[in-house]
Amino acid sequence: MTAHRITLIPGDGTGPEIVEATRRAIEATGVAIEWDRQEIGVPAIAKYGTPFPSAALESIRRNKVGLKGPLTTELGKGFRSVNVALRKEFDLYANLRPAKTYPGVRAPMGNVDLVIVRENIEDLYAGIEFDIGTDELRTVRETIEHVGKTKIREDAAVSIKYISEMGSRRIARFAFEYAKANGRRKVTAVHKANVMKFTDGLFLRVVGEVAQDYPDIEFEDRIVDNMCMQLVQKPELYDVLVLPNLYGDIVSDLAAGLVGGLGVAPGANIGANGVAVFEAIHGSAPKYAGQNKVNPMALMLAGALMLRHIGEYPAGDRLERAIAAVVAVGKDVTFDLKPDRDDPTAVGTSEFADAVIAELEAVRA
Ligand code: NAD
Repeated sequence: MTAHRITLIPGDGTGPEIVEATRRAIEATGVAIEWDRQEIGVPAIAKYGTPFPSAALESIRRNKVGLKGPLTTELGKGFRSVNVALRKEFDLYANLRPAKTYPGVRAPMGNVDLVIVRENIEDLYAGIEFDIGTDELRTVRETIEHVGKTKIREDAAVSIKYISEMGSRRIARFAFEYAKANGRRKVTAVHKANVMKFTDGLFLRVVGEVAQDYPDIEFEDRIVDNMCMQLVQKPELYDVLVLPNLYGDIVSDLAAGLVGGLGVAPGANIGANGVAVFEAIHGSAPKYAGQNKVNPMALMLAGALMLRHIGEYPAGDRLERAIAAVVAVGKDVTFDLKPDRDDPTAVGTSEFADAVIAELEAVRA
């Protein structure tokens, strides 16, 4: 059996602790993995003087799969977000965020099992912004006033939203392929095409065209504001959602809230050239760093997504079942999963991993 080579990025804050817990749980599935440990972000600046050392980028390019701890974004001038920069570097255009209720996790809604597919590159997130008082903004304003016959106030800053056919087609294709490969019944396109007729209208049209290639998967669309209300009232009606970048960002956190919060929500960023980076949705929770305290469940669930991504489906399923079993019993869980956050019986990050590993070993025995 040849080992899978995977780039392991510990991140910073509580990242190294949850990454170590997840690495151990993944190894307990029995899948052979050779970890290629690399630093990105704050720890890389301290060591190499740059948040993106070329060795780390080369490693991701070579191995094509990464498991990443959270990265603190406040890096000073020149870097808005290492996470956004990483997405751009590898054209990680698809952000996959499953949101599922697990018994034992307190969640406001009953049975939720949604998959959010968010376009990760375009839209208002592309960073095309013009600051107030700049020459660039003056040129943009004059051009828009000329071609758009619309007056923009002089005290306004401007962001540009763009949505392309190519970007919409590949995210739609990703959503339908994901639905097909994972036995999902329906894809819902989420948009605001009634108001943004050109950008969101294009997105809706293209997703609809792609849907025609998947006659076995139901297709429908919803306007984003209505979608938010419906997700709170009747999430069981929905299955896979595909959204442009900004709506995807907001709706996926809403979906995470429906199933118990960011502490239990995994994510994956998947690119055109086969590169995929798996992570928790939450950040580096720096106030708990080094305390063996936070919940590694979200990153472990991302680990299960990663195992399936590299073709190790049974191992991915086993890992998810083991996490679910530990959480359902509710004994060896971190403080955030206890009814009372001050419960002295809460275990630490590494003991949660021990419980998951024991569960995996019990099933194997
Ligand atoms: P955060 O998610 O780090 O923490 C918010 C709160 O959520 C924490 O105080 C904690 O109470 C709770 N929490 C988060 N993860 C938890 C876990 N695993 N177990 C238990 N409780 C948990 O959000 P923040 O404080 O806004 O961000 C901290 C840093 O992380 C910022 O620099 C932010 O930009 C960055 N960030 C990185 C990523 C990423 O790497 N993908 C994502 C989001 C935020």
